[in-house]
This record gives sequence, structure tokens and C-alpha cells, in this order.
Amino acid sequence: MKLVIYGGTVIDPANDREAALDVLIEDGLIRAVDKPGSFLTAGDTGIDASGLVVAPGFVDMHVHLREPGFEYKETVLTGTQSAVAGGFTAVACMANTNPVNDNGSVTRYIIEKAQTANLARVFPIGALSKGLKGESLADIGEMVAAGAVAISDDGRPVMDGNLMRRALEYCSMFQLPISVHEEDLHLAAGGVMNEGPTSLRLGLKGIPNAAEDAMVARDIILARLTGGRLHIAHTSTRGAVALVRQAKAEGLQVTAEAAPHHFILTEETVEGYNTNAKMAPPLRQMGDVLAIKEGLRDGTIDAIATDHAPHHRDEKEVEFDHAANGIVGLETALPLTLRLVKEGVLSLSEAVRKLTFNPARILGLPHGTLSVGAAADVVIFDPARSWQVVPEGLRSKSRNTPFGGWEMTGKAMTTLVGGKIVYTA
Ligand SMILES: [Zn+2]
Ligand SMILES: [Zn+2]
Repeated sequence: MKLVIYGGTVIDPANDREAALDVLIEDGLIRAVDKPGSFLTAGDTGIDASGLVVAPGFVDMHVHLREPGFEYKETVLTGTQSAVAGGFTAVACMANTNPVNDNGSVTRYIIEKAQTANLARVFPIGALSKGLKGESLADIGEMVAAGAVAISDDGRPVMDGNLMRRALEYCSMFQLPISVHEEDLHLAAGGVMNEGPTSLRLGLKGIPNAAEDAMVARDIILARLTGGRLHIAHTSTRGAVALVRQAKAEGLQVTAEAAPHHFILTEETVEGYNTNAKMAPPLRQMGDVLAIKEGLRDGTIDAIATDHAPHHRDEKEVEFDHAANGIVGLETALPLTLRLVKEGVLSLSEAVRKLTFNPARILGLPHGTLSVGAAADVVIFDPARSWQVVPEGLRSKSRNTPFGGWEMTGKAMTTLVGGKIVYTA
């Protein structure tokens, strides 16, 4: 079947394209991209993208889909509904499910659920350690054979440096990236927000930047020792950005992502004991926010990932100390990223690159591009469309967002996966 997306501005950073172009899709693949009017003839099916941006579908390398085990927070179905509504056509999901995704059968279970949902592509990330206990290596080879694209104990840091070393050594045989949640638990010492003036004022126990910086430093040293591929998840401190910059200058295989909340919000969002501002790593200070932006601008931070972390309201509507960490992010990532474009931090093309080609490349996926022959995973978005975040209106099963009531600019209008329309606004 033939489908033409016409009249839009194509932004395809993988091919250095940013121009008024039409896209021809056939049999679920990108067949051709050429000047306006090249493809559409009478009788063809077309999507009018006039005034809109046509980009590769976004690739989120860090989400929590909660299935199996926590279906009351999110399922593979509701998570991928949320993904395509946000313009994401592929998501990589973390292993902290119940049972933990630390073996091939859980990996296969998640892939089967995704095939049934038939919306965004889902790429499971396997656990680094059995049961996320940080004691012994999970069945990494088995999970990779079943379809895992990376390894991570996300939610938990790998406190045992020797285990981290063995994981980097083992994964380097597969050229498999290890995504790391960098938090020295001894330095974090049970803190519930960033350590700074706000934690002092609120009387909440703080987590110092050093808890993240120290672990990033350790893991970069281990990446140097092993030649392994290290990916720093949800970078939140100026120190971490500086360490990654140095590691890259040295030529180490180190990459990094940042989440929109870490380049938009500061610790002050916690004011009033706002549990929708509680996350790990915590929201930091303005100096950190500026460092994350600079890291995105100069290429130190490769990817924008949401760390979409749905929680039930009962887990958030409790005392701050006891509230669960994390926020939903798939449906607000695009407009929050476009703020960086408005501020002049990133060009529109660079912003799209960090949502598409870069994360796909880190995970070794053939997506995040409109190259001829690639799967027709496409987002058509309106960069100027204004809308207000109404938490009750989100597709995710959970409502834990600190952006409720915010005015956003930029919205996915149509999302296609494999040439099939899976979402229209
Ligand atoms: Zn994490
Ligand atoms: Zn996470």
C-alpha cells in the first residue's frame, strides 16, 4: 500500500535533511523522500502535513512500562498509547518489573505484550544483576538472545564496583551498552530531594550532587579499564556533565542522556512538599540546569529520554518522605524539548536528533531515521500548537506529572509505526 505525506517540512538529522519535502511510504517502509509534488497522484492516500514538521518517530531509550507486576500503574498497552500520543514510535523499557526482567522469559513476555498492543515498538532492557539485588550478574546472554538491547539495574545503582567491572567486561563482547542509574546510596543516605537551600527550608533530608558525581567518576574509570560501553542515564548534575565531557574527549565509549524535567525544573519545584516533583535523581539547582543545557548544546549529552515513571496516586498522595520517585513524561517531552529550541540552546534539527537518531544509535537500532528502506516510523508534529496539560487527559494510566496546568507549545498530530497510523490528535 502506498501512502504519501505531503506539504510538510522534513527534518531528518540522520541524513542532514531540513527542507520542504514529501515522503513516500510503501509496504511499511520509507520508499523515497523528494521535492514537493513528487509522489501524490489522483487516487493515492495522502496525509496533508502543510505547516507541520515531518520527522522520524521519537525513540525513548528510558521508560518504565511497569508490566509485568505493576499493571495498576501502567501496562505495555497504556504505556505505548502514551508513547505514540507523545510522538514516540520506539521505547526501551527498564527491567524493574515484578518479576524483574533478568532472564529470557520475562524479556520475551514483554515483547509479546508489545506485539499484541501493536502501537510503539518496545525494546526491553535487561537487568544487570539477578533480581536487581546488585550481587550477581543476570542471564545477560539469554536476555540478549531474547531481544534485550541494553543492560541496566535502573532504579537501583550498582554499588559493587567489581560487579560493575564484570558487567562492562561481559557486555563489551556484545558491544552492548550498560545504562547506569548513578547514585552512591551511602552518600544519598536516605535523602528525599536535592541537598540545598530548599531542603534546608523544608526540613527534608537532602541528597548531595556528590552522590551522582562520585558514581559517574567510578564508572568512567571502569569504562576506561574495560573498554565497555557506558551510558549515563538521567544526568542531573554539573559535575556529571563535566565528567562525561572529559571522558568523551579522551575517546572513551561513554554516552549520556538527560530528561526534560532536569533541564526545565529546579529543586524549588518541591516547595509545598509537591510529591510530583520527587524523583531520583532529584531536581537540582539552576547551575545544574544550565550545565545540562550546555551539555546538550555542545554534544556532551547525546540523547533526551523521559524516564517515564508512572505511579498510582496512592503512591504520590502521601507524606513527601514516603512518596514514590518519578513522573510520567512521554506526552510532555516534545514541547519541553522545543523550549530549548526557543531559548536557542538547540536548533530544531539538533533537538530532533536527540530524540531520534542518537538514542537509536546508542541502542544499535535501525530506527530514528527517514532513510530510504527504513521502517516508516514517522511523527508529524505542529511546533506551534499550544495546549494545556490536563493530567486527567493523559493516555498513561498514571497522572503523576509536575506539569499539570502548564501551557505547552508543540504537539504530535499524527504518529505512524511501520507505515500504519497509530495516533491522530
Ligand atoms: Zn534511574
Ligand atoms: Zn528510570
